[in-house]
Amino acid sequence: MAHILPYAPMNVSPEDLLSWYERSRRDLPWRDPGVSPWQILVSEFMLQQTPVARVLPIWTEWVARWPTPSATAAASAADVLRAWGKLGYPRRAKRLHECATVIARDYDDVVPDDVDTLMTLPGVGSYTARAVACFAYRQPVPVVDTNVRRVMARAVHGRADAGTPSAVRDHADVTALLPENGVAHQFSAALMELGATVCTARTPRCGLCPVSRCRWRQAGYPPADGPARRPQTYAGTDRQVRGRLLDVLRDNTSPVTRAQLDVAWLTDTEQRDRALDSLLADGLVTRMPDGRYALVGDAP
Ligand code: SF4
Repeated sequence: MAHILPYAPMNVSPEDLLSWYERSRRDLPWRDPGVSPWQILVSEFMLQQTPVARVLPIWTEWVARWPTPSATAAASAADVLRAWGKLGYPRRAKRLHECATVIARDYDDVVPDDVDTLMTLPGVGSYTARAVACFAYRQPVPVVDTNVRRVMARAVHGRADAGTPSAVRDHADVTALLPENGVAHQFSAALMELGATVCTARTPRCGLCPVSRCRWRQAGYPPADGPARRPQTYAGTDRQVRGRLLDVLRDNTSPVTRAQLDVAWLTDTEQRDRALDSLLADGLVTRMPDGRYALVGDAP
């Protein structure tokens, strides 16, 4: 498909990038024709902090079971938390359920299409609002995630890493590149795909890259200025303990005793208590008057 595109003000050619995207993009179900704005919003909630491979099966089951905001809102919070499974950061599931409730109740079951209204919904921040406006409603708004920031840092600014995020600067960077003839949404998807699959953090595959005048590459790949970032760990963290406690509650549709929860993490009892307190504070778990515990929505 030929695109008639304006002159690119920087060194990332929209035409090259779009043609690469058409050839190389991953076949992801939330990009299929006929996927609704709500289903795209669900994918964005799930993809915020979880890799695509883990999201794929959960998203597919989720949208088959709850295809609309009202169907999601009609489910119990406990069922939503169970369906979230091992995606991690389960507060997102609770917020998604709340978001569905607001859209069903206040917006006639239709996801709003403008960034400002989207940002008033539970769990929807600037990134998710822009992603939904762009990918579901084809609006020419900049969508900037970690992958896009890395591509911009390298291709446009000649730096190895993106450094500290700045919404104003990051959005201005991408806005300067967005084509104006109705393909901005595809350009944003292509930029994100490039960062996810080719210009990766550790091993950029420059031989496959459609950016022919990448400033970082032209400069001979100067190293990052700051200290090397330590990879995030999961084992032994409070997140892991929270996950273990939630596993116990997900596997039981009736409330469980404190002793049943305690066996989920015997390594450090203080850490276990802290994790349980945080689940209660987040509203994901309920303590019953008789001292037993249940997933929110499961308590009689
Ligand atoms: S040429 Fe290499 S470093 Fe530059 S944008 Fe492409 S993959 Fe990234």
